[in-house]
Amino acid sequence: MSTLPPLREVIARHGLSASKALGQNFLFDEQLLDRIAALPGSLEGRRVLEIGPGPGGLTRALLRAGAQVTAIEMDQRCLPALAELGEAFPGKLEVIQGDALKLDHDEIMGSEPYAILSNLPYNVGTALFTRWMGGEEWPPLWTSLTLMFQQEVAQRIVAKPGVSAYGRLAVLAQWRGAAKLAMKVHRSAFTPPPKVMSAIVHVEPAAMPEGVSAKVLERVTEAAFGQRRKMLRQSLKGMPGAVEALEGIGIDPQRRAETLEVSDFVALARALS
Ligand code: SAM
Repeated sequence: MSTLPPLREVIARHGLSASKALGQNFLFDEQLLDRIAALPGSLEGRRVLEIGPGPGGLTRALLRAGAQVTAIEMDQRCLPALAELGEAFPGKLEVIQGDALKLDHDEIMGSEPYAILSNLPYNVGTALFTRWMGGEEWPPLWTSLTLMFQQEVAQRIVAKPGVSAYGRLAVLAQWRGAAKLAMKVHRSAFTPPPKVMSAIVHVEPAAMPEGVSAKVLERVTEAAFGQRRKMLRQSLKGMPGAVEALEGIGIDPQRRAETLEVSDFVALARALS
């Protein structure tokens, strides 16, 4: 590792000016990167899928931690820098050039469990998070998600009932997973600095509640929070049987979505599944 040149030098040598279109905000602070790589616990000998390695700051930290890394990067310009990194850790880094939104991650990783880490642009991160958390098959092959989001989105993921941040993302993250806000990251840690603060969310899959379809739960929360200021009696009107199911499990249809616990949504989805 000591033979690796500083990240800033790698970026200058490979002409990797940050692309706004690709949402590139790079992290250079190796201590911070090591702390991020430590969030899933020891990575020694573990398989890791990193999305969006860019010039490879977090990738270095993952490799230093002893992980076997597969990285998916869309920007071709980053490939030579990542190839250099691969040479410094022979056999430990595989880089796939492509759009992570279009690839089948389980297929890429084979049949063994893997941890996922990423520092991605906001829109891509949220789309992938929704996909990872929303699968019908549970437990998933991935063992943890450690993902950088803008702080406001991170707060929505870990929110509890009764606050305005509580909504679909919170239910999605918490109904069969344990989600925590693992670390706040100041905007000044990035080059170039983004407009808003960031935070890392760590999610581990939990047991799947029995008799609940992920699709039904998704439809229920979409309807309930789609009109979050309205009573559930009104917002769930379009879902046949939903209001009766609410009453059947002892939830007053005059309540609003943001007052329901995640377990209440699960019970409602079970009644409708
Ligand atoms: N991981 C590096 C770091 O922390 O310094 C770079 C982070 S930068 C915020 C996001 C990276 O994700 C960029 O390198 C960008 O090219 C890549 N990226 C953006 N959209 C992507 C996609 N759909 N699939 C794969 N990589 C993507």
